[in-house]
Amino acid sequence: MENKLIPSVEAPPAKSEPAWWFVFISDKMMVAEAGEEISLPCFADPAELALEPIREWYLGTLGGRHCYCAEISETAAIPENMALRGLRYLYGRLEESLHRAAMKAVHTLEWDRTSRYCGYCGMETIRTRGMVAKECPCCELLIFPRISPAVIVLVEREGKVLLARVKRFTSELYSILAGFVELGETLEEAVRREIGEEVGIRVKNIRYFGSQPWPFPDSLMIGFTAEYESGEISIDETEIADAGWFDPEKLPTIPGKISIARELIDWFVETKSKEKGITPQKERRYHPNE
Ligand SMILES: [Zn+2]
Repeated sequence: MENKLIPSVEAPPAKSEPAWWFVFISDKMMVAEAGEEISLPCFADPAELALEPIREWYLGTLGGRHCYCAEISETAAIPENMALRGLRYLYGRLEESLHRAAMKAVHTLEWDRTSRYCGYCGMETIRTRGMVAKECPCCELLIFPRISPAVIVLVEREGKVLLARVKRFTSELYSILAGFVELGETLEEAVRREIGEEVGIRVKNIRYFGSQPWPFPDSLMIGFTAEYESGEISIDETEIADAGWFDPEKLPTIPGKISIARELIDWFVETKSKEKGITPQKERRYHPNE
């Protein structure tokens, strides 16, 4: 399959050919399940399956096929061979380009749900032609999908990595630190502030690593690496349950493969193993994607 969604706002005039449909009830997506095999439903029109979308957006094409996302009512009956699954669960189970598009789909629908009224004057909004945007017919306010940037940073100190267990994690999961960028802040300032607030240390040599759209519900994760500069770990007890420096050979349970957190930790483990000329520890404990 062509490996990427080609975004477009120009939907075909009629729903006459088979298309990829990203159909959600709340945050769960409808997939066809046949034993272990999971696939995305492909049909021309939701009416064929007696589905009545509450909201619907055209996304573009993938592999030459049109893509739509839609939300259906919580009380709707889904076809018998279909199941509702969360996107974390579907990671690695659904073809990757479709999963990427599904992440965009869930973000689009969430934005559609939360932008029904003008935040300025309260009037019901309408869709803007030719753009993924809405506008207020009364005061002309333009409303674009909201993307909330968040920094996520892997901090190294003498070959060890800083990992923390966040209070809201119910399991024994340890990860690298992350936080939303505040108004007026550069990404580097956000990195320094978050690390300072959460574990009380200073960092240096902040370097960009990569980024990841994270639609739970509307983030863009911007990944960095940094080096320890000074201070001792002193955790913010309202948010963090535990934090410490971990040897890449002796990691606690770390995030599942869907996240950039995991990508950064894997990168660190590989890099350190290469430096030491050893094979990375295979027995790592991963959090299951749920
Ligand atoms: Zn308005």
